[in-house]
Amino acid sequence: MASRDTRTGGLEDRARARQLLIHDHDANATTPAGWLEALWGPFLARGLPIGLALIPEVRLDARTAEGEPERYLRERGRGTRPLAANPELARLAERFEVLQHGCTHERVAGRYEFDRHDAADAARRLERGRARLREAGLEPVAFAAPQDLYTPASFREAARRYPAIVNGRFWPRWLPLRSRLGGARRAFGARLLRHAGEPDLADPAGLVDALGRGPTIWVFHHWRFFDAAGRAKARPLAALHRLAERLAEARDVEVVRVADLL
Ligand SMILES: [Zn+2]
Repeated sequence: MASRDTRTGGLEDRARARQLLIHDHDANATTPAGWLEALWGPFLARGLPIGLALIPEVRLDARTAEGEPERYLRERGRGTRPLAANPELARLAERFEVLQHGCTHERVAGRYEFDRHDAADAARRLERGRARLREAGLEPVAFAAPQDLYTPASFREAARRYPAIVNGRFWPRWLPLRSRLGGARRAFGARLLRHAGEPDLADPAGLVDALGRGPTIWVFHHWRFFDAAGRAKARPLAALHRLAERLAEARDVEVVRVADLL
């Protein structure tokens, strides 16, 4: 594991270490646990931590902004389904660092659930989602809204409840950012972590070599690695596993958890 190598390498190696976080978004009660095992098992086996941004109580007829059924739904239907309804997934998730990803991931009146100017509604969704994760035996360490969409009201409610918010966009102009020594950004008491989206896996070794000084956060979507019949796509999966091998060898890259940055 990279972090162990840098530690035994002493302070100089550690000072050079680049930090990387790997997150997987959208796993929910309809997600086969075997999918996550297939993607991330080789990382976990090498001691490389992975963050799972889980949908706590997925809406089974959720649609995208374009009106398409969400592809993270392996079963569709009506109503919602809490994560605890998939005990195999809940057990597997204990091996990951868990983030709360929205509550139902639904759209309400044409907007994603945290892109609404209703503080009380945002607070309810935050509390309900966290309760659903706890009911499944999981304790989330950070929050990430669906599609990275917030209003000032929903952002404040999220930041009040979590020590860290992971977001992919430029920070909105309305955010009262506080920078501290070392560049850590905070708002309403929460650490703000920007993710870099999904990297192109064409050259996994090159990706690792090109990492800048950290922390860098990559966000993957497990469902992109499977076809409509649920079969793994061999090439992207093989590329992902090459990434795990490369990271395990890399002496100057530390794969870390959100909790390591707080
Ligand atoms: Zn999502």
